[in-house]
Amino acid sequence: MNNALKKYEFWFVVGSQDLYGPEVLRTVDQHSQIMVEGFNNDPSIPCTVVFKPVVRNSNEIYATLTAANADPACAGVITWMHTFSPSKMWIRGFNALQKPLLHINTQFNRDIPWDKIDMDFMNLNQSAHGDREHGFITARMRLQHKVISGYWESETLRTRMGKWMRAAVGAYESRQLRVLRISDNMRDVAVTEGDKVEAHIKFGWQVDHYGVEDIIRMVEAVTEEEIDAKMAEYATVYEMDTDNIQAVRYQAREEVALEKFMEKEGFGAFHTNFQDLQQLRQLPGLAAQNLMRKGYGFAGEGDWKTAALCRIMKLMTQDCEKGTGFMEDYTYNFDPENGMNMGAHMLEVCPSLAAETPKIKVVPLGIGDREDPARVTFKAQSGPAVLATIVDMGDRFRMIVNDVEGQVQEHDMPNLPVAGVLWKPLPSLETSAEAWIYAGGAHHSVISFAIDEEVLRDFAEIMDIEYIHIGNETNINELRKELTWNDLVWKLKK
Ligand code: MN
Repeated sequence: MNNALKKYEFWFVVGSQDLYGPEVLRTVDQHSQIMVEGFNNDPSIPCTVVFKPVVRNSNEIYATLTAANADPACAGVITWMHTFSPSKMWIRGFNALQKPLLHINTQFNRDIPWDKIDMDFMNLNQSAHGDREHGFITARMRLQHKVISGYWESETLRTRMGKWMRAAVGAYESRQLRVLRISDNMRDVAVTEGDKVEAHIKFGWQVDHYGVEDIIRMVEAVTEEEIDAKMAEYATVYEMDTDNIQAVRYQAREEVALEKFMEKEGFGAFHTNFQDLQQLRQLPGLAAQNLMRKGYGFAGEGDWKTAALCRIMKLMTQDCEKGTGFMEDYTYNFDPENGMNMGAHMLEVCPSLAAETPKIKVVPLGIGDREDPARVTFKAQSGPAVLATIVDMGDRFRMIVNDVEGQVQEHDMPNLPVAGVLWKPLPSLETSAEAWIYAGGAHHSVISFAIDEEVLRDFAEIMDIEYIHIGNETNINELRKELTWNDLVWKLKK
């Protein structure tokens, strides 16, 4: 873990009213400062929590929440009612709030002090009903928000707060994401298509196309010195397992051009399309992989939605050591004792998923009709992970997430020239596949070993898109009913 998420700030706004007098309000502020300090010293809270003075009336609430909107470092607002804060006072502020909202229902004091408790104690420690008043107004206003209840020092509450923060970081980054399309979608493929204007409105993604010729001009302009520097970078993270250095240098050339262009234009994600390479000599393989390793989102075949999701999930987990990257369901192991799915892609599997030092290989690629592309291969990580995809249902976006268990790769697969990731999907290979297929989930997805489904569920709720979860609880008949009902719900929501 590093501190990469500390730059995202969450305002801790505690509500009250003037009824209690200045002494109680001073105590509320003191408690809230102690809690903020506790949150900031706990590694399960990945972002920074910012103390805000207690808000006592409609004007203070409005001023605080609109200031949160205007602060570019603020990624979300956390509210808590230490005392009772009549919630009509919150309507004006909540009507204006544009940042993600988390309501924690907690209490400064963990246990009831049986022998000392009096009415002063009761009036100070009354979130049990103050937070219910707050809950009514968030429900009544149909606010998109998350509620987490628990003692503020408990590991469970803090871990869940941390997950919600990751989701809010995803939303924050989503709303300023620019996606580079190199060419269009692969011909005839349906699932990689979608409404880019709707994606801009819902997710904030600016999805811009450049012709392959534009990229080729930049690739040709790369100097030998720039290629040398990129080769030196490869040497620090990969092992060379080929004599065809010229092929590797060509990938370095492609990467230098793409990296410079994306940095200059503020792109966070990109896609390629093997059907439209024009005079590019290789499909970007190693180039795409190394850019993903450095945090760029990527997907193949014109899949701008998965490229964007890849970027967002990488930014949600930028402080984590475990990997996140573009994935494609490829081949099943239908052994009834050992049902597994093997994910891969024709080249572009993210090195952040590696369990060992990746090796650079140059092997022919039957698809794309160009020179043999360099790529890195490796055995992948194992452990709990999620697979996520976003599809366009025509009237809404749907996110589908499957809990999986990443498997240790026991076989060497000497004839397979790409990295593969093995997983057992929950609840079983067959049920998860049926659920994913009924839900219309894409063959492209993003795998992450660094988060669980609650983060993605929170993200989908913040972005106001449909969310379908496939995990241990999934029952196919219930899931099919959920899909049918959701169709009606989302038509009414429009
Ligand atoms: Mn693909």
